[in-house]
Amino acid sequence: MSPASKEVQVAVVRPIAGEPTTFEVASKSEPGTWHRVDIKAHGGCGQCACIRWDTVSWPRIRDTRNLPPSMRCRHLKAAREYYTNHKIAAERAYE
Ligand SMILES: [Zn+2]
Repeated sequence: MSPASKEVQVAVVRPIAGEPTTFEVASKSEPGTWHRVDIKAHGGCGQCACIRWDTVSWPRIRDTRNLPPSMRCRHLKAAREYYTNHKIAAERAYE
């Protein structure tokens, strides 16, 4: 049986100590490469070191000061989800 290549792969995210809104997200197309993502940059639109952010996300942010979720690169999406999940877990700890 072949690997489940059609399944959505959850990106591997790792936090950076002392930088609560900055993460490294593993590249899918370049194994071993990690893209640095700052989810708070550019007024909360976020920033990533990948080519899609440079060519798709950044021009939109530059021109409109906004970034629709559909124009986020997968690293930015993954980092935002990681951050959100940890915030929710922290809130649940108080229940
Ligand atoms: Zn990216």
